Amino acid sequence: MLEKVSDHIESLMVYEEAIRRQFEISKEELAQDLQGNCDPLHEDEYEVAPGMINKYGNRVLCLLTAECAAYCRFCTRRRLVSNSGQGHVDRAQVNMWAEYLSRHPEVSEVILSGGDPFIVDNCMFGYVLNTLSEVESIKVLRIGTRAPVSDPSLISCCKLGAIQRVEQPVYVGIHFEHPTEITHRTVKSIKDLISAGAILYSQSVFLKGVNDDYETLYELFSRLVEIGVRPYYIYRCDPVPGAMHFIVEPYIERQIMTRLRRNLSGLACPTYVIDSPDGIGKVPVPLDFWDGDKATYTDFEGKRHYIE
Ligand code: SF4
Repeated sequence: MLEKVSDHIESLMVYEEAIRRQFEISKEELAQDLQGNCDPLHEDEYEVAPGMINKYGNRVLCLLTAECAAYCRFCTRRRLVSNSGQGHVDRAQVNMWAEYLSRHPEVSEVILSGGDPFIVDNCMFGYVLNTLSEVESIKVLRIGTRAPVSDPSLISCCKLGAIQRVEQPVYVGIHFEHPTEITHRTVKSIKDLISAGAILYSQSVFLKGVNDDYETLYELFSRLVEIGVRPYYIYRCDPVPGAMHFIVEPYIERQIMTRLRRNLSGLACPTYVIDSPDGIGKVPVPLDFWDGDKATYTDFEGKRHYIE
């Protein structure tokens, strides 16, 4: 995956190691064999139309672009992002998605992802939202983004207007890793999204050397609630080639999450999950309040997994 940082991220990297570590190619990354499982969630197997993934039956993922404002070195989709040959979605592809949805009324939720959906141009962003929200069976739209962190200027007036015009609820899931990502510009973009009617939640990944300590995550989740973003999920880092050095030991993650659950309000504490490799489902990890084997679990399809 190419190295790319936005001006906004570059200005933060200068003085914040936790941000530099997320975006700069490191010696640890270069030392890894990059030939392993590049698609640990097996998304490619569930592609039902170009750029559309239906893994769960009632909701689909639509990949609008392979591009982001800045590339996170731990990205699960590093096999796709920064692949400039894949470009951005076009109208013909969006129409194909709408056709698929019309033929599959069991799908009620669309999740726009990528890359970062906010990097596509204003016209295309509006076209996607408008076209997909017109499908009668679609009740909920979601957008997964890191733009408020990586380049808040991408949250443009035109895109906010497009969100405002959608009749269904629009949930925007924002990827945060560290409290220093919550800058004035980020807070402004969050306020703008809320004013446009979006419902905001966060997603995070445990990352060694970035947020693998209680104090950092306590501050991050407390601040998110204060600015109107509900902490939703924190994941174990996926075992993607090139990102293995970010993986935190499971017992450390459990200890941190147990302490957070004890001390944060329920609203501020996200669910700690593992996106089962080679399987299906975000499986909640039991915290240290529970006795028993915490290294073995069964995914949504009944497959057994071991994490230690
Ligand atoms: S913003 Fe999301 S899709 Fe883009 S590189 Fe980071 S994790 Fe991957």
